[in-house]
Amino acid sequence: MQMQTQHKTIAYEHHHYPDERGRFGNFGGKFVPESLMTPLAELEAAYLDSLKDEAFQEQLRQLLHHYVGRATPLYYAPRFSAMVAPGVKIYLKREDLAHTGAHKINNALGQALLAKRMGKKRIIAETGAGQHGVASATACAMLGLECIVYMGEVDIERQSLNVFRMKLLGAEVRAVSSGSRTLKDAINEAIRDWVTNVETTFYLIGSAIGPHPYPRIVRDYQAVIGQEARQQIIEQEGRLPDIVMACVGGGSNAIGIFYPFADAPSVQLIGVEAGGVSLQPGQHAATLVAGTPGVLHGTLTYLLQNEDGQILDTQSISAGLDYPGVGPEHSYLKETGRATYVSASDTMTLHGLQALSQSEGIIPALEPAHALGYLLEIGAQGKLAAGTVIILNLSGRGDKDVLTVAKALNVQVQA
Ligand SMILES: *Cc1c(COP(=O)(O)O)cnc(C)c1O
Repeated sequence: MQMQTQHKTIAYEHHHYPDERGRFGNFGGKFVPESLMTPLAELEAAYLDSLKDEAFQEQLRQLLHHYVGRATPLYYAPRFSAMVAPGVKIYLKREDLAHTGAHKINNALGQALLAKRMGKKRIIAETGAGQHGVASATACAMLGLECIVYMGEVDIERQSLNVFRMKLLGAEVRAVSSGSRTLKDAINEAIRDWVTNVETTFYLIGSAIGPHPYPRIVRDYQAVIGQEARQQIIEQEGRLPDIVMACVGGGSNAIGIFYPFADAPSVQLIGVEAGGVSLQPGQHAATLVAGTPGVLHGTLTYLLQNEDGQILDTQSISAGLDYPGVGPEHSYLKETGRATYVSASDTMTLHGLQALSQSEGIIPALEPAHALGYLLEIGAQGKLAAGTVIILNLSGRGDKDVLTVAKALNVQVQA
């Protein structure tokens, strides 16, 4: 659905969003069937209540430490920094070292604990690349919850290893055969399940998307990344960074690292989207760079759509960034100018992945490799002054992507 936003100029206000209607400026809200209004209100009440429950917060902190392995390191990458530009200092926030190899577990664990506190023992989730399905199945196994993951038939085929991982972890994977048989269809199916089974079921959303209060809940569970990074950079550099960067799919790792820095005007926030093959319609997933506002999956936000409001196909070397929408808080950060959004092509991304692997001995996931590739590009253009301090959120490790990379580089590997 295409929507005109009011186009009044809005200023970024740190502590007021989302407001009581779940809006981030002109974006966000709850565009859902009547039957979901009460469950969403119950979820919001339970979430706000959990913030005041000291025992709950302590249990979450303990699990993030002993099970997930937090705090993750903030690593100064000297050899990669030298490849980008002389005198620039790049720090990597090592979410790749979290349990299951990416940031998604922070949110999956938080929401699964919240479900348990609400007395809901049946968890549903949806997944495209399979990473959120694996994080949800992991959290559910550890907490003894039933886990059902909706996944498009096309994705099941493309991501068979992650399907098997979920099954090993005790989850049930349900194939979705409607529409394009990918992530957006799996989300529609999960919403349908939630409407039908709302009494017993908790819908565990995997990125900072969906109707209010999900974008806020996911942001808050991921904000641990930025809170740690802010403290760590003060310890190591004695000051705030000049730039904080992250890749943006649905936007959860980016909002998690941006939010705790957003009240500091000297810190520039840069989100890097998937530029795919080109910025022609259907050849990328750069929603904020090339999209327009509209409603998808319960929220008003930037989308990739045509003039009739039909959702466009997306394309990216990285399955995890391949979503035609984006979290509404990022639309707000774009519209207020508080953050800047750019894109990196598949080629730049491969370059970034190889450069970090060879200079630092860290094989990154393809998603954050977009931000690495973008840095190499602007460094080569002479746009980064000596002395610039940058934190880049290394959202995940690259083990899952090695076959994709080999194929892109025309290398034969035995699977
Ligand atoms: C899923 C994923 C992303 C994209 O999701 P966001 O919600 O935008 O963070 C980025 N990096 C990795 C490693 C992922 O697994």
